[in-house]
Amino acid sequence: MFNAESMLLIHGRVFDGTGNEPIPDGGVWIEGDEIRRVGSADQFDDVPDSVPRVDVGGRFVMPGLVESHSHLSYFNASSLQDLDMNCTAEATTIKAVLNARTMLRAGYTSAFSFGSLHAVDVELRRHINSGDIPGPRYVACGRDVLGTGGMVDWNPDHLQLGMDGLALLADNPWEVRKAIRTIRKNGADSVKVYLDGEGMIESDLPGELSYTQEEADAAADEGHRRNLKMICHARSADAVTMALKAGMDVIGHANYLDDEALDRLYRDRHRIFVTPAIHWQVGLYENGAEFGFTSGVLDGLGYKAEIAETINSVAKMKAKGIRILPGGDFGLAWTPHGTYARDLQNFVELFDYTPMEALVAATRDAGAMVDFGGKVGTLEAGKFADIVVVDGDPLTDITVLQDQDKIVSVIQGGRFFHNSMPAGPRFDLSAKPGMTPAEEDRLLSSAE
Ligand SMILES: [Zn+2]
Repeated sequence: MFNAESMLLIHGRVFDGTGNEPIPDGGVWIEGDEIRRVGSADQFDDVPDSVPRVDVGGRFVMPGLVESHSHLSYFNASSLQDLDMNCTAEATTIKAVLNARTMLRAGYTSAFSFGSLHAVDVELRRHINSGDIPGPRYVACGRDVLGTGGMVDWNPDHLQLGMDGLALLADNPWEVRKAIRTIRKNGADSVKVYLDGEGMIESDLPGELSYTQEEADAAADEGHRRNLKMICHARSADAVTMALKAGMDVIGHANYLDDEALDRLYRDRHRIFVTPAIHWQVGLYENGAEFGFTSGVLDGLGYKAEIAETINSVAKMKAKGIRILPGGDFGLAWTPHGTYARDLQNFVELFDYTPMEALVAATRDAGAMVDFGGKVGTLEAGKFADIVVVDGDPLTDITVLQDQDKIVSVIQGGRFFHNSMPAGPRFDLSAKPGMTPAEEDRLLSSAE
């Protein structure tokens, strides 16, 4: 493991995540867990000789990616029902620990959870922050909050199954407040509320509102007084409007918009974030057949039309300057963990983002959403040294980020989690006089 107190990454194509063109021959000076300076290679002459130089050989150096619609506690289940059944809390936790490692290895150094089984997210965040396990800096969500018959309350009563790990059922404003207070007590940073449904859930379809405005208002009010980020599942225009009236912070999906919803989004554009999570639908078409979701079945559930409508909605939101973030509902069998960067390709191919725009959305803008003291998302002095080195150019081919072999270094808080850049001449060890052979070995071996 190469974890010096400070180091200088030098001779990289440095993309800072702000939308500026990369510095062709640049460097990043890291001190402790922060970035001290970013600039062209000739601006580091004053760096003390004691600081190790890591020559990245012209590779692409960028901020750690941020997953904005994450479910680390989902375990690639092949049916939604399996999420709450067929897996104990203990097994779910172990799988979540492995998923957290997978996410970090994929170059995602931060993530925003969009819902957790049990209190798995809270324990994940706690143990990632204490350094016990590797994983992204994490905004931990509690169990989903929804009304009886809301989207994930999908087990009809005669089955006598209830809904345990995935959701807290709450009807009427005071039950909603109690559910949110419970989640706060158990340590989450955010709460997800279901405002409408989902194409594959017969008992609550998109546009079928499962909360009243009064309940949504109570949720947002209670969450905000307890300093929780309030996020919601809202596919239809009516659900999006309800979310904005209530004052939710993040809207998941927003597939369908009308003029009122778009107007309200525009008015709230400086505070609101939207995560379409379009890879839910795309992944179903690509991988769903073996789990019973053939394209015929999916068309029948309205997914094809939903993708088309989402493309329209995103175009309208993008034109209005609304921050739309990649994050693809990964954690089901058709959206497996580790493939997170696939949603960046969706932004380019479906939503007509340039690779630059997609990268800025997944770094600067998503960094603003996770909001770890404003220190995540870009490579700038004073930010956390969360850095990915890529053997390729995501600005010309966004898909390169899906190839783990090309994610050659993952640095989080100034420490290498992974490094597969060739050792030897690329590491200028002579810069650190007096180093023992054992220290050199440690310096050269990767974290894994
Ligand atoms: Zn989701």
